[in-house]
Amino acid sequence: MTPASESSTAQFITSLQEHIRSALATHYPDWRATRRGMPRDFLNEVLAVNPLSVFIPTRFGGRGQNVAESLAMLETCSYESLALSLTMGINGALFLQPVSRHAEEAVQGEVFERFITDKTLGGLMITEPDFGSDALQMQTRFADTSEGYRLRGTKHWGGLTGHADYWLLTARGQTPSGELERNISFFVWDKSLGGIEVEEYYESLGLYMIPYGRNRIDTTVPHGRRFPPRTSGVRMLLDLLHRSRLQFPGMAMGFLKRLLDEALAQVRTRAVGGRSLLSYDQVQHRIAELQAAYTTCSAMCAYATEAADIQNDCSSAALPANAVKSVITDMMQSTSQSAVQLFGAQGYRLDRLVGRSLVDSRPFQIFEGSNDILYHQISEAVLKSMAKAKHRVLYSYLRADELTHQAAEYCRSALEFSTSESISQRKMVTLGEALGRIISLEMVLTLGARGYRPDLIENAAALLKHQIVTRLNSYHQSEQPRVIEDYEENSGWMQFSPSAS
Ligand SMILES: Cc1cc2nc3c(=O)[nH]c(=O)nc-3n(C[C@H](O)[C@H](O)[C@H](O)COP(=O)(O)OP(=O)(O)OC[C@H]3O[C@@H](n4cnc5c(N)ncnc54)[C@H](O)[C@@H]3O)c2cc1C
Repeated sequence: MTPASESSTAQFITSLQEHIRSALATHYPDWRATRRGMPRDFLNEVLAVNPLSVFIPTRFGGRGQNVAESLAMLETCSYESLALSLTMGINGALFLQPVSRHAEEAVQGEVFERFITDKTLGGLMITEPDFGSDALQMQTRFADTSEGYRLRGTKHWGGLTGHADYWLLTARGQTPSGELERNISFFVWDKSLGGIEVEEYYESLGLYMIPYGRNRIDTTVPHGRRFPPRTSGVRMLLDLLHRSRLQFPGMAMGFLKRLLDEALAQVRTRAVGGRSLLSYDQVQHRIAELQAAYTTCSAMCAYATEAADIQNDCSSAALPANAVKSVITDMMQSTSQSAVQLFGAQGYRLDRLVGRSLVDSRPFQIFEGSNDILYHQISEAVLKSMAKAKHRVLYSYLRADELTHQAAEYCRSALEFSTSESISQRKMVTLGEALGRIISLEMVLTLGARGYRPDLIENAAALLKHQIVTRLNSYHQSEQPRVIEDYEENSGWMQFSPSAS
């Protein structure tokens, strides 16, 4: 076989696809994700093609960190298995890329060599049982000792719990008085150091291939294994998270294409009421939505090839990164809901792809930034910039911004209104959903201008416009149902039933 670093992208992708299909057929014969965990033989067969070499610089024997090739690798995996693609995504965006951007040269040399030669795996531990969305409050702490940095704390939900050979650990420095610094630091841990104990494995709802759980950490990491604080830890974290969010479309791409192919095959062959399902208008509506998601995702991939380049500091790319991540993961979930509907009861079987897609794609809306929070942040960022630039009308601001200028014209009539900075959080989220889709629409229109199929572009643009207008209508509604905490008093329906005695 040609060494991974020397084959063309096409050869590499074909070989990867063959290996994945063969490994899945051997190790997950029923349907891939009803079995929990990832047998080593399965991994060996997939990793024989060195898929993770796309995240490794050429000077360390990798394929050179070309974002387009990385996205193509993730897409190839997710067409076969979303969990496998997430495994590659975790290793790439949450471990190898940050190591390549921030670790000492000697650490990079060791890590990359082991990934290429020994087919090792890595992951990232940020989340703690009491601190998830507010990760900056993490309580895992480190102290500088003569042997290295001693880290202590509890982390959970790190993808590949108990399975990864390397972890990127995050912690806050402890001052001599016992208080924790505000800043976050990163440490490259490997199995030989010991001191990470899995206290519990979680029975996760989906993504059965990937082990999750809770880890107790009490370990000492050598001094050279800390990311040198050339910039603040929060900035490194944002660089890592934004680059990762920009690459979500790689994982979404194969997943959406597979759902589309499966759904099309189903509606072409299934007859109901003497007609093919595809002849029903509502069925066509669902398929068209799936195709629009496919096109939007393609546009995002094209965008990411430049924006997520490994040379770029992505720490300030919050707006596009948050829009791409939240919109595409919403689309993954809504299209799998649609596919399950089209498959009828067959879609509800645990051992069928569409049913698994529903639960496998759901956490993408939660991890690496809960979508509700990201949408809020999108609105906050836009409203702040509008105030700074002294714009009151949304259209005029978006028309002047390169992330949205074509899309603003496309949706002009819906955007001619004045915004206010003092609105409720739910309205901020709704507005953020619309803004995220306007940014996505811009990417679609740009893809169209590069010569992509006009019929697909037209459909995707129409769907996004519809979603934007619906959300803005909701934004303009004044009703805001409130929470009634003591709701049980005088609310039992039977009391009010005419036939109850
Ligand atoms: C499958 C899976 C894989 C994961 N992989 C990793 C990994 O590899 N490494 C890692 O470190 N972590 C990982 N995580 C953890 C994930 O990043 C966290 O679950 C996520 O950050 C949310 O934290 P939490 O679960 O503590 O929820 P919480 O912080 O309790 O938030 C729960 C919900 O509350 C709401 N909410 C919270 N704050 C706000 C707010 N300010 N405004 C409005 N609403 C709010 C949102 O709806 C949010 O979804 C993974 C999780 C899952 C499910």
